[in-house]
Order: sequence, then structure tokens, then C-alpha cells
Amino acid sequence: MSDSAADPGDNTPDAGGPSPEEVLAEAANEGVHCLAVPTPFAVGRVNCYLIEGDPLTLIDAGPRSEQSLSELEERIGETGHAIEDIGLVVATHQHIDHIGLIRTVAERSGAEVAALDLAVDRLAAFGDRAREENDDAVQLMLRNGVSEEVAIGLREVTASFLDWGDKVIVTRPLAHESLLDLGNRSLKVLHRPGHSPSDTVFHDEERRMAFAGDHLLSHISSNPLISRPLDGSPGRTRSLIDYNASLTETRKMDLDLMLSGHGDPILDHVALIDKRFAAEARRLEKIFGIIEERPRPAHAIAEAIWGNVALTQAYLTLSEVIGHTDILIEQGRITETDQDGLSVFEVAR
Ligand SMILES: [Zn+2]
Repeated sequence: MSDSAADPGDNTPDAGGPSPEEVLAEAANEGVHCLAVPTPFAVGRVNCYLIEGDPLTLIDAGPRSEQSLSELEERIGETGHAIEDIGLVVATHQHIDHIGLIRTVAERSGAEVAALDLAVDRLAAFGDRAREENDDAVQLMLRNGVSEEVAIGLREVTASFLDWGDKVIVTRPLAHESLLDLGNRSLKVLHRPGHSPSDTVFHDEERRMAFAGDHLLSHISSNPLISRPLDGSPGRTRSLIDYNASLTETRKMDLDLMLSGHGDPILDHVALIDKRFAAEARRLEKIFGIIEERPRPAHAIAEAIWGNVALTQAYLTLSEVIGHTDILIEQGRITETDQDGLSVFEVAR
């Protein structure tokens, strides 16, 4: 999400560098096939990756719908394989557009299912936990100044999205920094929370490449969505603070290529991360300036920045604002006070 609707800088290929198509063709030669599967969400298609090895491995599977399944099958067929040949499905994180079809694929193929160990319970309890998280979201919106009408309306929309998800039964829990052996390559499992609490990056150190899920995207910033902690305990993640710590770790990685859950391959992750940090620093000062004008709740800050979008995307924009107010509070620059159940941010005295 950016202040202006379009963020033209990211998509321009480096002069003389390979095009995204060339990068993906090269990856396919190495046995890694990008399969773009449709989603009903604004983000557009989700990239799943089929890795030829022993076992034949699928990273993410797309949302649960007839259309997504038939396109996934078709894309897999084009690589000369079939769903039934898959021996392992890997989840990059808990979001519906990535995990909805994992159970279907696992049932049809008999494949094992791997995911971060800390995410196992959350993935298995998908329906109940997602509904609880929806209730959390309504409470968070009300507390931060979104009207009841809008908050309830948004809950209906989110509840209807749950049909595209499904429970995921993980048979192979993965510890942070363990190795996932795929026969001809091994992937180091790296927990990188922020966009979601379960974000996991899979690093092929030998080939200097990684599967990023939504941890880093080439064309848009990964929204650090506020969420319930993975263990299901009440409260919320400090998602932007977590995300920055994760990006700092990822920035140190030695990589030529990151393959993301949406959009084009990333060839220079350091430059992209620096760009994300710079944009965030600008937004931090902008939000501080708005609070300096006069104290207000997070939703009013979102309205000052995004106008009407703060209504249609109330939770997304709130996550963005609260991510930054978490940082400003940590820096001692603002405080949060309770005014009859409403959280109001003001400059620290
Ligand atoms: Zn996601």
C-alpha cells in the first residue's frame, strides 16, 4: 500500500538486466516452475512454485475454488507433472490465498504437508481461529475510531472470504533454521514474521535463491497486518516492529533471486528492502506530524492520509497506522491514552 495509488518505481527492470520472463524461464530450466493461480482478492494472482526433486514439491497452493484448482492443475500439467505426483506441499504463511487448496492437493496426492512448527495449530484450527480473529479485528476497529456500521460491514466481507480457505493438517512441522531436504536441493527454513505471524522464507543457500512468500514483494509493500499471536493468546502482534526485524535479517542474506508469492521475481533484495525502509521512515514522520497537529485516534490518522480508502480498507489502513504508532511509542515520541474506550494518540510531553 502506498500513499499514491501507483508506485511506478518498483516494476521497472534494471537497464540491461533480464526480464521477469527470462528469470522465470531460467528458474524453470533449473526445475522451479512458477504457477500463477487466480484469487478473488485485490492482490490478483498468487504465485505457487513447483519444484522438481524427490519429493516433487509444491510451495503454496492458491485459494480454495474450482477455478483456482483447475488452473493449478493445468499449470502443473504444462510442466509434465500432475497433482497426483506431488509428494510434499509447503505453506509459506497462514493467508487464505496461499493455503486454501493445500488440503485438497494433499488428499488427492497423498502428499505430506510442511509448515513452520509454530503455525501448525493455527493452520489446523483455520475456521474457528479465523472467526475469532475477525472478532478481534472488529474490536480493534471500534477501539481505534471506526464506526460500528463500517466495522460490522467489514466483518461480513471478511467472513465471506473464509470460504476460500481451508484447514491445513501439517504432517511435517519445520523448526526455524532447520533444513528441508528435497533430494537435489535443501531449503533452510527461516521464520520472518511481520506481514503475518507465520511468514516463512525458504532459502536455497547453494543456489543463492529463496522463496519469499509475501515477506517481500517487488511491486507493492507487504502490509504488516495486525493479527492475533500464533499461539492464539489474546492480544495482538506488533506487526511492523516484527516486520522490520525480519527485513533486517533478510537484508543480510546472500541472494541473487527471491521468488515471491505475488508479482515478479526480485533480483536485488537489498535495494528493495532499503526502498521499503525509506518509504516507512517517511510515513513515520508524516504520521507523527498528523498527531502533532492534534491528538486523534488511529482511524482519524488513516483518514487524514488516505481519505475514503480508510473506510473501504479500514483494517488494512489501521494496521498500517498502528504499526507506525507502535514504533513512535517505542521511540518515546507519542503516548496512547484511553478516552472512554477510544484509543487516542498524542505527542509525549
Ligand atoms: Zn499474505
